[in-house]
Amino acid sequence: MLLDLPETYSEEKRTHLTELRTNIILHLTSQHDPKKLLAFLPKAGLVNIEEGEKKLYIGFANEFALTQAKKIFHKSIKEAVHELYHPQFEVEYVVYPPFSNGSPLLIDLKKLLNIKDSSSNASAQGKKGQEIKSELSSYFGILFDPHFRFDNFIAGANNQFAFSAAKAVAENPGTTYNPLFLYGNVGLGKTHLMQAIANEIVTNDPRKVAVYLPSTKLVDEIVQAIRGNKLTNLMRKFDDVDVLLIDDIQFLAGKDKTQEVFHNIFNDFHMKKKQVIMSSDCPPKELIGIESRLRSRFALGLVADIQAPDFETRIAILQSKLDAKDEMIDFDLLSLIAEKITTNVRELEGALNILLTRKKLSGKEVSQEDVEACLQTLGYSTVTQKITPEVAFQQNKKSDSSFDHLVEMVANYYGLSVAELKSDSRKKEITTARQILMLIAKQYFKWTLEKTSDYFGGKNHATAIYAIKNIEKKLKTDENIHHDFQVFMEWVEQ
Ligand code: ADP
Ligand code: MG
Repeated sequence: MLLDLPETYSEEKRTHLTELRTNIILHLTSQHDPKKLLAFLPKAGLVNIEEGEKKLYIGFANEFALTQAKKIFHKSIKEAVHELYHPQFEVEYVVYPPFSNGSPLLIDLKKLLNIKDSSSNASAQGKKGQEIKSELSSYFGILFDPHFRFDNFIAGANNQFAFSAAKAVAENPGTTYNPLFLYGNVGLGKTHLMQAIANEIVTNDPRKVAVYLPSTKLVDEIVQAIRGNKLTNLMRKFDDVDVLLIDDIQFLAGKDKTQEVFHNIFNDFHMKKKQVIMSSDCPPKELIGIESRLRSRFALGLVADIQAPDFETRIAILQSKLDAKDEMIDFDLLSLIAEKITTNVRELEGALNILLTRKKLSGKEVSQEDVEACLQTLGYSTVTQKITPEVAFQQNKKSDSSFDHLVEMVANYYGLSVAELKSDSRKKEITTARQILMLIAKQYFKWTLEKTSDYFGGKNHATAIYAIKNIEKKLKTDENIHHDFQVFMEWVEQ
């Protein structure tokens, strides 16, 4: 995370900027004397990309640093941007005072040039704060999602115990319940609740470092570390972490080596009274394929389940999502949704998004027919039918226009626009939806890779190959994506 960047930037944008920044620095180190780079660039960083204006902004702490660096590095920076980002983008230099105390780029530089920070001899405790976070996020990616908080999580009878436990852990991390183990079916708020704990802990004490890792990412990290003989390095990273969140731990099943390493990480956290929070689709004792010594450790602290929300809670969730978007829908219509969609909060949200998009496009208030059509789309039977994209889609199965309708429905489901799905945006949510659609285009509509790429504005068929490979991998490891894919396939196969 680029902690010095404006807070208004989304996490995706920050990650994107971080990656590009590292690549530009790599390019510069291949062309310039490291000493020169260290002398001129510590107080510089990538601060913005304006896609519309085709401009990339590099910030410097002050005018002097800017003028000097521009003189020496402009040619190489321009080259790097053209090669690594886009041949038509201009580089602009701006004064950006937050970098006066050093920038995240300094950390990249030191890492790449293998230079030890003088403060790195200090104990991990002394080194706390932004620098550690910045180092860890360039290592692990986004540390956790700031959108998942307690104040936008609705507590109900279904999750009261888990919610109270989560609050208690956030108040006293590492001591009250360690580890905290949350389990329940897909789409019931496990990921939300665990990240809410991280948000609360870090808000209460910004020196605390919390890291959220889907267990598939943990497996990747460990496997790569073992391959590259860098396990010690990885373990050292965990030394700097105060709160560790591992999501969907059931995916560690059968990964013996990973389990062994995680066992060590876990013991270390437990011994040092550092909080561990895990989620799973079942309680620890039912985790098939996970060593029994780990299963018993997972149950050492507190195990809490999350059930499907009852009717009142479903209404409250719908209402809170509406409030957050400053929108209104009649109570009777909300009831209709809450009566039908009973087992998955993600789907409740999806239904709401579909309705709100419909409202925006038509300029009319949501009607009962809209709700019924929407429920039908999601596979819930209702009585009436009118000609909507959903119905048109059903009537004209595998045609190209039918695919257009599917794209529209998927866009509505996620609260995105069709243009966004067809754009080259790399926002995670958009990319995932786009990749699922590409897979369906190939698998179900039997489109060629060229046609699929073309439809989504890709450069050539490689775009579709990459997208489809990627989503096939994610389908195996990400329950939410798998769930959404199934929903969309049900639409096409109905
Ligand atoms: P899980 O990890 O259990 O599959 P998620 O945490 O991803 O589920 O939740 C799915 C979606 O539903 C998220 O957008 C989340 O914000 C929302 N959600 C789930 N439960 C609640 C709740 N009790 N209050 C508000 N939003 C919720
Ligand atoms: Mg989850």
